[in-house]
Amino acid sequence: MNLLARLAFAAFIANALPAQSQKLKKNDKLTISNLRQHVSYLADDKLEGRRAGTKGEELASTYIAKQFESIGLQPKGDNNTWLQAFPIFDGKDYKQNSYLFINGHEIGKDHFFPLAVSPDKMLEAMPSIALKESGVPWFLDLGDEKEANQSNPHFDVESNIIAKARDAASKGATALILYNDGDQHYNAKMKGETLPIPVIFIDETESKKYFSDETAVLEIKLKTGFTKQERTGHNVIGFIDNGAQQTVLIGAHYDHLGYGEDGNSMLRSGEKQIHNGADDNASGTASLIELARTLKKNKSKKSNYLFIAFSGEELGLFGSKYYTENATLPLTSVNYMINMDMVGRLNDSSRVLTVGGYGTSPEWQKSFSSLGDNKFLRIKFDSSGTGPSDHSSFYRKDIPVLFFFTGLHTDYHKPGDDAGKLNYEGQYRILQLIEQVVKNTGNDNKLAFTKTREQQTGTTARFSVTMGIMPDYSYSGNGVRVDGISDGRPAKKAGIQAGDIILQLGEYPTASVEQYMQALGKFKKGDKTNVKFMRADSELTAAVEF
Ligand SMILES: [Zn+2]
Repeated sequence: MNLLARLAFAAFIANALPAQSQKLKKNDKLTISNLRQHVSYLADDKLEGRRAGTKGEELASTYIAKQFESIGLQPKGDNNTWLQAFPIFDGKDYKQNSYLFINGHEIGKDHFFPLAVSPDKMLEAMPSIALKESGVPWFLDLGDEKEANQSNPHFDVESNIIAKARDAASKGATALILYNDGDQHYNAKMKGETLPIPVIFIDETESKKYFSDETAVLEIKLKTGFTKQERTGHNVIGFIDNGAQQTVLIGAHYDHLGYGEDGNSMLRSGEKQIHNGADDNASGTASLIELARTLKKNKSKKSNYLFIAFSGEELGLFGSKYYTENATLPLTSVNYMINMDMVGRLNDSSRVLTVGGYGTSPEWQKSFSSLGDNKFLRIKFDSSGTGPSDHSSFYRKDIPVLFFFTGLHTDYHKPGDDAGKLNYEGQYRILQLIEQVVKNTGNDNKLAFTKTREQQTGTTARFSVTMGIMPDYSYSGNGVRVDGISDGRPAKKAGIQAGDIILQLGEYPTASVEQYMQALGKFKKGDKTNVKFMRADSELTAAVEF
């Protein structure tokens, strides 16, 4: 998730409960100690925060696979192994193939960077800083640029510079070199059309050396070149084959933030610290393992059970999305999906457990009401089938889902999310509830699927209108790929469909989700404009009214 994404829920109280607790039997205690053991291992510093595609992820996936094996599950990953590998696009590196020399001095790679949408290019020239002649690089003082736009809330450096670079290129410039760059950072994942000329940012330290005298002529030698960076994430998949028609899919992501390298840490200091992710989501992963153990002993053979520990969730549901596009059993045979993400911090006094996806099948009402009063948990239902966790990927495939969540807390996405802070008995009570729901649901029938409202995810960009689409955060191509679409909203009315790729809103290119949100900020209620988008290979345009 990206961080990108905070949860907002609408709810109603199923029942008010006395807070007494029932005496735990031997078996209960054994399961609770198993939960604690799994969380302690997965959230140990040794696993370095289990960032997708790292050694920490590998240690965790090995542990989970061993548990699945010891329980007697069948491997259901690639070629019937435990793992399903998937690529993670990490952007483009410039340091290997780019260089900059000014007056014969090489500028350190930490003191300059090219915009990632620059072309691969090499040039030498002797331009004057002040003159804007054809056939040489042009210079721009970024400090002045920002100052001039201080009062403009919609000023966006990247799209502003891109427009300037295109303009300069059309007038014969061979590169655009920006100096006095205060706080621009290299964005390896920047998306968009490749520019006609290289755009280079030089930091203040080096700028002071070469750009204080604007009448100076500089000897410039530069090369821009990029290498694609990719990691490989791994889903861990186990199966109980009861020879049944339907399969119940139970999932939990096991990846977390590592040292916060992917920019989704809530640690404002930006320090590189291990984010142990005990609640997020070693707790759900531990529950997944223990649910597998319980259902393996289940006498009823009316359903098969597929258990998936997803990776890449923190990056934008990468692992679950990949599974829905590369399923190792027919998705049509999946009766419903249960997702557990952060089930370890049940508040002892309020005992509130949030259950999302309640509106994705009429069956859920029956399943829960037939369980009667729950003595330990206060259940809050949310109807939406979407939200920033893996159930959304399956909801988008019209599969009924349930999402179990004990709520946000002050350690969310911080190094302090440690094993010692979990409520293991609470986690066990949730496990018991899920077991009852599974035993109670869909044994003799395929669940009916109902669409629900799309949930809004948090963003920093300021906009007052939306199109009513859910972006696909794992899409690395140019544009914004539409994952979900809400009825009765501007995009739907314009005829946009899931899978379309939005390229431009009015005059504003939308090469990335961030640019798309910036573009939305330019419109207000009642405005009419056009949206340019790709459907399969054809570029289409449609009228939109906000
Ligand atoms: Zn999570």
